[in-house]
Amino acid sequence: MKIPAKFENSISEKNFSHCSVCGADLIANNKDYLIEKAYKRFANNLGEELLFEIAVCFDCAETMKGELSKESLESISAFFQKKSFEQKQANPNPDPSILLGQCLLSGKNLCDMQEYQVYAHCRGGQLADHHSYYMLSDEIIEEIQELLSDHTRDQLQKFSDDNLGIPPELKKLFSNGDLIIL
Ligand SMILES: [Zn+2]
Repeated sequence: MKIPAKFENSISEKNFSHCSVCGADLIANNKDYLIEKAYKRFANNLGEELLFEIAVCFDCAETMKGELSKESLESISAFFQKKSFEQKQANPNPDPSILLGQCLLSGKNLCDMQEYQVYAHCRGGQLADHHSYYMLSDEIIEEIQELLSDHTRDQLQKFSDDNLGIPPELKKLFSNGDLIIL
């Protein structure tokens, strides 16, 4: 299953081929990995700006998760389960073509968001399965951030500093813990 174009590396305009953290070849090694991209949308449908993008192999994601607090990970997981259950109740047969047009956990539409993030679980240059990608709205990301302990927030901040290469002038746009590898 082809990875949607939305998840391409914005610089090469091709699929991510290497882990942004350890540099492992994601394709040759048939690795499982996550792609995460964050966008800011301009008012009046005047387009959008990429805030950051990253591809992380599962090995690196596991290492990173090991540094987060157990409580934070459990809270995020419980939050996901609760919200996705509510969404399934509200909309039992979601149209797969809206996976990148609607927040997975709130049902909010893209046109009502000021910021959003998209995530994909891939393997060896393909989607891991048909539905292994989704979008989260600004609102939901904020709610998730509120669930994080100070320790977890610091760790995520450190991870962003080390791996995302965000220019300092943009940093003020990010609250701690904006990066959420799920
Ligand atoms: Zn890696």
